[in-house]
Amino acid sequence: MRIVFMGAPGSGKGTQAQRLEKQFSIPQISTGDILRKHLAEGTPLGLRAKEIMASGGYVDDETMLAIIRERLAQPDAAQGFILDGFPRTVAQAEGLTKLLAELGTPLDAVVLFDVDTEQLVKRVSGRRTCEFCKKVFNINFAPASGECLPGRTGHSLVQRPDDREDTFKERLRKYEEDTRKPVSHYYASTGLMRIVDAEGAIDEVTQRLLTTLAAGGGGVAAPRKRAQAASRRRATRKAKAVKTMRRVVRKLKKAAKQGRGAVKAARKAARKRVSKLKAKAKRRTPARRKSKR
Ligand code: AMP
Repeated sequence: MRIVFMGAPGSGKGTQAQRLEKQFSIPQISTGDILRKHLAEGTPLGLRAKEIMASGGYVDDETMLAIIRERLAQPDAAQGFILDGFPRTVAQAEGLTKLLAELGTPLDAVVLFDVDTEQLVKRVSGRRTCEFCKKVFNINFAPASGECLPGRTGHSLVQRPDDREDTFKERLRKYEEDTRKPVSHYYASTGLMRIVDAEGAIDEVTQRLLTTLAAGGGGVAAPRKRAQAASRRRATRKAKAVKTMRRVVRKLKKAAKQGRGAVKAARKAARKRVSKLKAKAKRRTPARRKSKR
């Protein structure tokens, strides 16, 4: 099986790739890991990539394609592979298509892991890696355990420099603009694209992923989920507006019992409340129309 995993930083594609690697006996090829290895070994590529990675930018396409060409030529990739974090640009996607055509081994699927931004921030800000055994934990969801508990010899948890807030925001922005939109558009017409709802427990996501891959289709889970969330938000806003209007009516009735002065004041307050509600609704309407285009 030859698969591409796409997803924002923190979407869990690396974790799922590691699971599939074991299940299908095919290697997870993470370009981020390859670059980090170069960095740790101080190779010329590592030195060149250091600043780019620290700022949340992308290493150039030519270099990335050369890395992938070399990696796919290794014997363990002959039976298949999971590309994790590659391609990240349309040029990389085109290069990969060409390379796989040369090798006569086209892709079987491109999986997009879909996670809400708020959830991504929680995941990435809490992510910690054990410097010694490279196990990944999360202080918010899956705290360190076993040998990696603080204080054990040789094991200490560190945060990836590019997981820090500023760099992470830049990585997210870049992912959205240079990767998610254009690359998923590139694959949209190939029939390979599948979207997996990557929120919830790791086992649940694995199950969804396996089901999607086995079904050979997909692409509906995330849009449907987004539509449901938007409809929930609209319902909440409507309920809030109704509540405010009821409060306004109650106050007006109370004021009517108290006399003319109180009615005047209550009317003024009511007008203020209603115009605030209208302004809020106006602010939302154009944005919603825009996002529908
Ligand atoms: P990752 O571990 O996949 O989040 O990658 C870490 C960093 O490595 C990214 O933020 C980029 O700076 C760089 N990188 C990894 N893969 C690629 C790629 N396919 N193209 C360009 N830069 C990459």
